[in-house]
Amino acid sequence: MACDRCKNQAAYTRKYSGEKLCSQCFSKSIVKKTAKTISKYKMIKHNELVAVAVSGGKDSLALLKVIHEMSLTHNFKIKVITIDEGIPGYRNEALEIVKKVCLELNVEYKIYSYKDLFDLTLDEALDLRENEKTSSCSMCGTFRRRAMDYAAKDIGADVIATGHNLDDTLQTFVINMLSGDTTKVGWMNPDTAVNSLRKIKPFCEIYESEIVFYAFTNDIPFQSEPCPHMNEGIRTDIREFLNLLESQRSGIKNNLYQSIIKVSEVMKNSNSNTKEKTNCEKCGSECTGNVCSVCILVSKLKSNQT
Ligand code: SF4
Ligand SMILES: [Zn+2]
Ligand SMILES: [Zn+2]
Repeated sequence: MACDRCKNQAAYTRKYSGEKLCSQCFSKSIVKKTAKTISKYKMIKHNELVAVAVSGGKDSLALLKVIHEMSLTHNFKIKVITIDEGIPGYRNEALEIVKKVCLELNVEYKIYSYKDLFDLTLDEALDLRENEKTSSCSMCGTFRRRAMDYAAKDIGADVIATGHNLDDTLQTFVINMLSGDTTKVGWMNPDTAVNSLRKIKPFCEIYESEIVFYAFTNDIPFQSEPCPHMNEGIRTDIREFLNLLESQRSGIKNNLYQSIIKVSEVMKNSNSNTKEKTNCEKCGSECTGNVCSVCILVSKLKSNQT
């Protein structure tokens, strides 16, 4: 089976398009598609410093490789930020991989922990919950967004790049719809600048399965140990459901993604997204009330500490 682009031996078939590609042409196509997404949504501007959020998983390490390659020929700089949630036995392997890859690429990196920022590790915070209505991932996500904002500001970045892929976008959309949270759908548009610090997802138009193959074919080392909290939320069920649909009807994920972009475009312009921004009385972060949701969460958890 020959590559459709160069006639070398093909290593990957894109089911939704029928295209057959060798490893090199496949990798080039991923870099090209990422560059196209970045340019379409004007994700990175000249002279900007991009904080690449690298967890040590395949998506973020693949993003680091692609964006590092682009930074060599384009007018922007990158630094890596890594968030340590404080989940015993889970993050250590990832932190070692991040350090190793950054040293190889000669990219500066800095690690920020929940413990340093909030005086609580994720596991400590979970133990202090009143009940399990707030899932591990939702609490972790609240802390992570704040930690990333802090880290990006700390290194003087203009923009934060995360490795979220097309599948992540679909899953988040379904979760928001199932929980009746249509406001968040507006925030999903890649064109939306919610805070002064821009958040970009350069892989948002690429299937997770293609990122996996990219990481594999480029020998990118990534964390093998899954987070112990991974299967507690509904995301895994939705992920499996969407994968099942895609395996029966190739391209269905792409169709859903295009629909999400159109719906989020409408939602982002609707009134429900125009709450006035203020600054938190306690930490100064941008929020919509007097005290931000993170400060409220942390003080509530601390009050449960004996
Ligand atoms: S799976 Fe959930 S708890 Fe684990 S690191 Fe990811 S968001 Fe945090
Ligand atoms: Zn080829
Ligand atoms: Zn605050």
